Amino acid sequence: MNETLRANPPRPSRRGLSYAVCTQFLFMHLACLLAFWTGVSAAAVAVCLLLYVVRMFAITAGFHRLFSHRSYRTGRPFQFALAFVGTTSYQKGPLWWSAHHRRHHLHVDTEEDLHSPVMRSVWQSHVGWFLSHESQATDVRLIPNLLKYRELRWLDKFYVLPPLMLAAFTFLLGLLLGRYFPGAGTSGWQMLAWGFFVSTVLLYHGTFTVNSVAHLFGGRRFETADNSRNNLLVALITLGEGWHNNHHHYPSSERQGLYWWEVDVSHYALRALSWAGVVRDLRTPPKG
Ligand SMILES: [Zn+2]
Ligand SMILES: [Zn+2]
Repeated sequence: MNETLRANPPRPSRRGLSYAVCTQFLFMHLACLLAFWTGVSAAAVAVCLLLYVVRMFAITAGFHRLFSHRSYRTGRPFQFALAFVGTTSYQKGPLWWSAHHRRHHLHVDTEEDLHSPVMRSVWQSHVGWFLSHESQATDVRLIPNLLKYRELRWLDKFYVLPPLMLAAFTFLLGLLLGRYFPGAGTSGWQMLAWGFFVSTVLLYHGTFTVNSVAHLFGGRRFETADNSRNNLLVALITLGEGWHNNHHHYPSSERQGLYWWEVDVSHYALRALSWAGVVRDLRTPPKG
C-alpha cells in the first residue's frame, strides 16, 4: 500500500455516535421482537437460515475476497450479483465496505484501525465503529479499482434499496405461502420477521465477530504484526473467515483455511464455481 496513505491516514471529521445510524441499527434489533407476535414455523426458520448463508457468502466471497482483496476474478454479471446480495445485508454498500476493510489491513491494530479490539474496546471493535460518525464516509483513495464500475457506485449510493426489496420479497413470500400452502403455517409478517429482520441481525453480529473475536481469541500460526487469530467458531459462522491469522499473513489468497481441517465453506463454494466457469484465477498462498 502506498506510503503517502500510510503517512497521512484519513482524519475523521467528527467523533462520537451517528444517531441516524444508531436509530436504524436499533430499529433492526427491535423489529426482531415482531417474531414473538407472529410466532414461528419451519418455513420461516428455513428462509431465515437460507438468507443468512446466501448473504454471508456474498459478504465473504464478494465484499471481502473479491472487492476488498481481488483474490480471484469473475465477470461483471456475477460481480454485480455478489454486490447486490451483499448489500441486502444492510451493511452499507460494496465501496464503503471495501474501503473500510482496506483501511483495516493498512493500519491493523493501530490507532487508525477503527475496529481494533486491542487499541479500542471490544464494543468499539464489534459494533461501536459501525455506529460512529468517523466510519460513515468512504475514503475513495483506497478503492480506485472499484470506482470504475458504475453499477457498484450506484449500489453504494442507494444501498438502502436492496434491503428494502428483500424485506418486501420476504413479506410477499410469506403472504403467498400463507394463502396457497396454509399447511406451512406462515404469514407475511412472520416471514418478514424471521426471513428479513432476524436473519439480518444475525448477519450483523456474525460478520462483526471477525473484527472483534478473531482479533482476540484463537491460535496464531503466523507471527503477524497484529493480534489476528485463527478461530474455528468464527470460521463456522462466517463460512470461513475465522482463519483470520492466516488471512492477515496471506491477505491476497482466496483460500483462508490452509488445511483440510480448517473449514472454509466460501472457498469450497468458490472452487465449485471455478469448475463451473463462473469465477477464475483463484489466488493461492505462495508455495513453501
Ligand atoms: Zn483483521
Ligand atoms: Zn481482509
